[in-house]
Amino acid sequence: MGLKSALTHTVLPRRSYLIKSLIAATLLFFVFSAATLYVIALKNEQQQQLIGARTAQFSATYLQNLTDTMKRLSQLPGGSCDMAEDQLSRDAALTLGVRDFLLVRDGLVYCSSATGEMTLAVEDIFSGLDWHKPLDIQLEQGTSFVPNRPVIAIWYRDPDSEGSGVLATLELTLSPYMLFAQTDEGYHGFALIIGDNALTSHNTTLIAVKDLPHSHYSEIRVGDYPFTLRLYAPQITGENIRFTLLAALLLSLMVGALIYFTLVSRHSPEREIMRALRDGQFFVEYQPVMETQSLKVAGLEALMRWQHPFEGRIPPDIFISYAESQGMIVPLTQRMMQLAAEDAHRLQQVMPFKAKFGINISPHHMNKVSFRDDVMNFLSAMPENHFQIVFEITERGMIDNENAMREFNWLRRQGIEIAIDDFGTGHSALIYLEKFTLDYLKIDRGFVMSIDQNTLIAPVLDTVLKLTEELKLKTVAEGVETVQQAEYLRKHGVTLLQGYLYSKPLSAEELMHFTVEVNGGNIVLEK
Ligand code: C2E
Ligand code: CA
Ligand code: CA
Repeated sequence: MGLKSALTHTVLPRRSYLIKSLIAATLLFFVFSAATLYVIALKNEQQQQLIGARTAQFSATYLQNLTDTMKRLSQLPGGSCDMAEDQLSRDAALTLGVRDFLLVRDGLVYCSSATGEMTLAVEDIFSGLDWHKPLDIQLEQGTSFVPNRPVIAIWYRDPDSEGSGVLATLELTLSPYMLFAQTDEGYHGFALIIGDNALTSHNTTLIAVKDLPHSHYSEIRVGDYPFTLRLYAPQITGENIRFTLLAALLLSLMVGALIYFTLVSRHSPEREIMRALRDGQFFVEYQPVMETQSLKVAGLEALMRWQHPFEGRIPPDIFISYAESQGMIVPLTQRMMQLAAEDAHRLQQVMPFKAKFGINISPHHMNKVSFRDDVMNFLSAMPENHFQIVFEITERGMIDNENAMREFNWLRRQGIEIAIDDFGTGHSALIYLEKFTLDYLKIDRGFVMSIDQNTLIAPVLDTVLKLTEELKLKTVAEGVETVQQAEYLRKHGVTLLQGYLYSKPLSAEELMHFTVEVNGGNIVLEK
């Protein structure tokens, strides 16, 4: 795992951002779909109402015109088909949808616009028609003239003469009605219902009313005419649903991605560190350093801590490395020095005179122009003359040896001791011993761990300790966890010991209690 991704994974909970974005996208998907389908349903309903109103209007006008014509025809000089025939044929030709006009007297048809003179009882043509009524409408599967072609019969009685009137047969097609529906995507069909029969836009023959679909229709009545029209149209069509779901999917994917990238970019590790500095999320813990022979507290190492409000504790290994790689180590160290110096004023009450005050300094920081100013600020913030400040510097990242040597010398002139941290883990360890004037070597935890175990590293530790003895370098062993390790290190002349065997890193308060408990009051450590 790379440096950036290490911190990114710790500080930036990408997985949790992903989950949040997915939840938001899913919610949006459902809310958008529901709202859109609701609006579509409303719109479809309005549209259907409009179609219904137009259909009713059309039917009313048509029937009005038709009955007007029939009224006129009923007033033709009665009795003879010869005199009426021309007028009858002309009107039949000019009236939309009319197949035939028939003149009736005393229940007998005596003249047809199609076939001329004839004599046939009305019942023989349309058995269901009631010619006693002023107006009747009948739907039949066919007439005796044209069987098997649905036909509508309209009876208009002459108001002045019982049993006389005009009968119209209409070419039955619902196409004029369909025209109204063409704009409506949700259109499913029409049904014309007269009595128990219905003609639909889907069937060429009549069907019984009870066999019509029972849902998704609105019923249209036209005046007092004895028929109804049904407009079949679902409120929401399959196409509506498909379109809405697709749009919702695209929209929520886009919004989800937007939320995710906004979350990630607003919470970049750099911003998180700057925010942490601003909000005081960093604090310092102190691990006591013990004098090997007396096992009294002889100093401390200050360790930076980051308590993130959501992510909890973030390991210093991760955020320090990240800050180093992003050039943010300087503000972090400045904060660290500021906090440590504040605590030092309280700690000096219990810590022995000239106790080691270890601060970790990144080699990157030493190359920065502000380095000397930062050090001077720290020195002036520290209590005067009580602590022996030790800068713990790892050899990792120390590329510019010239500069390092110059800064080391400058630091020592300011009274600061230098310790090489994690000694033995870098490859150039021995070169340092030759080139630099150092005070301490901090023997890496890896070496200390090897003491109990019969590993190949153990002899290396022996050699290193012999070398430090010859060079008269003081040593601190870190990560001491067992009595055996401590025993071995004492025998081999290690100056100071640090590790969980004695104490974990503590708050300033805890360290003060620990020190009083172990040292039994202020003691002066001989240099
Ligand atoms: P380090 O300088 O080697 O610090 C010692 C680390 O070993 C600390 O881890 C400490 O808690 C841990 N440790 C101490 N005793 C034992 C033990 O007996 N057993 C085990 N297993 N571990 C022990 P921590 O605090 O997590 O720090 C990790 C590293 O982060 C430090 O290693 C140091 O390199 C860096 N660091 C911490 N604070 C600062 C800081 O203020 N500035 C800089 N530049 N680096 C820092
Ligand atoms: Ca250290
Ligand atoms: Ca170390």
